[in-house]
Amino acid sequence: MEYTAQLDKWTAIRRGLKGQCPKCGEAKLFKAYLKPVETCASCGENWENVRADDGPAWASMLIAGHVLAPFFYFITFRTELPDWLRTLALVVVGVAMCLLALPRMKGLFMAWIWYTGAPTS
Ligand SMILES: [Zn+2]
Repeated sequence: MEYTAQLDKWTAIRRGLKGQCPKCGEAKLFKAYLKPVETCASCGENWENVRADDGPAWASMLIAGHVLAPFFYFITFRTELPDWLRTLALVVVGVAMCLLALPRMKGLFMAWIWYTGAPTS
């Protein structure tokens, strides 16, 4: 992959995090929530075979879990809310964090896999 030699690894990863094509940063990486485009509309890079598999889900849960831990402590031990409301708040915040993190982590993993030239499919 001679084209990655001129591109900084962190630039590619930052573009992936933002949902942009890691190679050019000019076009979207996803055509739907988690569905990557087949080829970049700007540079023509093929994204069809760059598969992140379970990496984005793992990273999203890891991040959400660590961020939720203080929230869990606060809402459990520092509030007088009823149990059903505590549970509802934790579920809503946890699901929202995972849904927000998932496409970003997928972009990050796809950029990383693409940049390193790791075998795909
Ligand atoms: Zn591109």
